[in-house]
Amino acid sequence: MALRDIVKEGEPVLRQKCFEVTLFNERLGVTLDDMIETMFAADGVGLAAPQVGIPKRMCVVSIDGKTIYELVNPVIVKTAGKQRGIEGCLSIPGEHGLVERPQTVWVEAKDRFGKLNKYKVSDLTAVAFCHEIDHLDGVLYIDKVINNDKKE
Ligand SMILES: [Zn+2]
Repeated sequence: MALRDIVKEGEPVLRQKCFEVTLFNERLGVTLDDMIETMFAADGVGLAAPQVGIPKRMCVVSIDGKTIYELVNPVIVKTAGKQRGIEGCLSIPGEHGLVERPQTVWVEAKDRFGKLNKYKVSDLTAVAFCHEIDHLDGVLYIDKVINNDKKE
């Protein structure tokens, strides 16, 4: 496993619509392992492939450092409720903002082996899923900030 460099805001790869993953091979697993290691090293709760310069539809999420979600070609199939919380992004260091997200999301995604999994997640995990899946469409949380609350 290896740490990857995290791409910062301003790089075009963060603003593009990412491509579906079609090859579920060993290299995909290595990339996901690198993303997980990079996320933990940066103290993040989620990381999307474009944040390490890879325009593919995959991301990793871990709120508690134990349960690790790897979402390949994720699709939000249903949402319920609303919540508001302060978000930041590893690609936009030093900034935070208030964002509204669903309280609960139902997501279908493949794992590194191409197996389809169905998730129902709420609270902070739902926020992280939405934030990371947004990355795959070139959307950053700053596009959705309600009340900009910058912290230097
Ligand atoms: Zn982010």
